[in-house]
Amino acid sequence: MPTLNPLALDAWRNERTFPVLTPAQIETIAAHGRRRKTARGDVLLDVGDRILHFFVVVSGEIEALRPAAGNETTIVVLTAGQFSGETNLITGRRSLSRLRVREAGEVIELEREQLLTLVQTNAELSELLMRAFILRRTALIAGGYGDVVVIGSAHCSGTLRAKEFLTRNGHPFQYIDLDHDADAQELLDRFHIQSADVPVLICGADNVLRNPTNAQIAKCLGFNDAVDQSAVRDLVIVGAGPAGLAAAVYGASEGLDVLVIEANAPGGQAGSSSRIENYLGFPTGISGLELTGRAYAQAEKFGAQIMIAAGATKLACERQPYSVDVGGGSRVQSRALIIATGAEYRKPSLDNLSRFEGAGIYYAATPMEAQLCVGEDVIVVGGGNSAGQAAVFLSERTKRVQIFVRGNGLSDTMSRYLVLRIEDNPAIVVRTHTEIVGLEGESHLARVRWRDNRTGQVETADVAHVFMMTGAVPNTAWLSGCVALDDKGFIKTGSDLSADDLVAFGWPLKRQPYLLETTQPGVFAVGDVRARNVKRVASAVGEGSIAVSMVHQVLQTS
Ligand SMILES: Cc1cc2nc3c(=O)[nH]c(=O)nc-3n(C[C@H](O)[C@H](O)[C@H](O)COP(=O)(O)OP(=O)(O)OC[C@H]3O[C@@H](n4cnc5c(N)ncnc54)[C@H](O)[C@@H]3O)c2cc1C
Repeated sequence: MPTLNPLALDAWRNERTFPVLTPAQIETIAAHGRRRKTARGDVLLDVGDRILHFFVVVSGEIEALRPAAGNETTIVVLTAGQFSGETNLITGRRSLSRLRVREAGEVIELEREQLLTLVQTNAELSELLMRAFILRRTALIAGGYGDVVVIGSAHCSGTLRAKEFLTRNGHPFQYIDLDHDADAQELLDRFHIQSADVPVLICGADNVLRNPTNAQIAKCLGFNDAVDQSAVRDLVIVGAGPAGLAAAVYGASEGLDVLVIEANAPGGQAGSSSRIENYLGFPTGISGLELTGRAYAQAEKFGAQIMIAAGATKLACERQPYSVDVGGGSRVQSRALIIATGAEYRKPSLDNLSRFEGAGIYYAATPMEAQLCVGEDVIVVGGGNSAGQAAVFLSERTKRVQIFVRGNGLSDTMSRYLVLRIEDNPAIVVRTHTEIVGLEGESHLARVRWRDNRTGQVETADVAHVFMMTGAVPNTAWLSGCVALDDKGFIKTGSDLSADDLVAFGWPLKRQPYLLETTQPGVFAVGDVRARNVKRVASAVGEGSIAVSMVHQVLQTS
């Protein structure tokens, strides 16, 4: 039986996390790999290994261990019928644990490619293995069983960014809070680290990163090591929000060679939503992180490759295959392209805004931000659904939520169910005709000044947390004039393109652009970045899925 203590699983969860395969299932897996005798002490896989193999125990025992500071902690012991692995077998990321033979016997060994073929072709085993891998990763995250330690402070915006980046990438980490851990300063002194270097990431065995960018974290953890950047792809998808992930799932599952490039971490705006309640099939709601995390795993299961912290900086559309410059000097090429770069929150022009971003000013309301303002007063700026959701969610954890809107109420801009919840909630106060005019503080936001635009009266209060939810602008700056945009910068597609647009951008074909196709043949735009798109998760997912069928048509005729 598995050793449960380190992962602290209940019996129900343990059965699903470490299932025992039937003899028939073992035979099916054996047909994809090879049988191998094992001797006590054999290391089948080590921490940091990039080439990952999958093992089923036929006889004997193997144990997953976490080596640290000369010691080893047993994470789990696997016995006959059980199998090794977690989500990094699907993503191709480095191993987080050591796998060693505890009792001699026999295993079935599959290379990663053989495992991917198995999960793509066998529905029963795919479900069982994927569920176990995801539950194991979840348990590793809950237990902090990663190869990263983040040392940071709630007063430092880089700390929130780094923690969010790791969380959104589903990467387990341990957190040491400088504000509460008396020994932490000594630790920093040992590494000669100044306060400007916070957050510090100890990554792998001995890499110490000082206030690293997301790209540096991704590099240190080898997030993109398995991605071949030299191949000309069938389809490159730019952006891994709901629209891009849906396109990746459909494209890869229908046999296309798909690469997704994502500037930050998978999930997009949806990943910053605490609870999505209007997405079909989830009557009790689902957090954006959970929804997009599942989509991410699904896309990778079908073989889509995803580059993380790799923002597209330029589209070269003069010749085909198209090429996209990616930050850091690399370039990817593709016969078709789906642009799914979505939108970003508009930032009001306020002095000091950027100084307090992540240190009192937030653009998302997830449990991570909520943790920072438990029991305190917060302000949510905006009158749309995302502001409403944030206010309702934050009211469960904070003392009071004030919603600031410039208009005279919420009903024109917010769904009725949210307006009713806000009206019924004594912890939420709506201030109409109100806008923030000043932000004050030292290392963290401490005071906010606001004005009532009807009376001109200005008030100041000690508020240390403001959530900006004030509408979005499209991420289209990187398109280098390749495609027609509307007057707000959103991408025009299909029948929205006028004859003048087609002439101005040199549309070269006799046929008219397909649905969702831009002024470049084979370049599609989906989701929030597209002009006239309904800004919802469902429409982003729908458009991402539909675009793939047009991609097939383009690839067949090119
Ligand atoms: C807080 C909040 C709550 C919401 N709640 C709901 C809800 O309850 N129900 C609902 O239906 N909708 C909701 N929405 C709206 C919904 O999340 C969006 O409509 C949806 O996420 C749009 O998906 P998308 O994939 O088109 O774009 P996005 O989600 O914006 O994703 C775009 C992705 O592209 C990446 N990107 C941007 N530029 C580049 C580049 N140059 N190179 C590479 N990658 C790039 C971004 O990092 C991002 O990951 C909410 C939005 C927010 C912010």
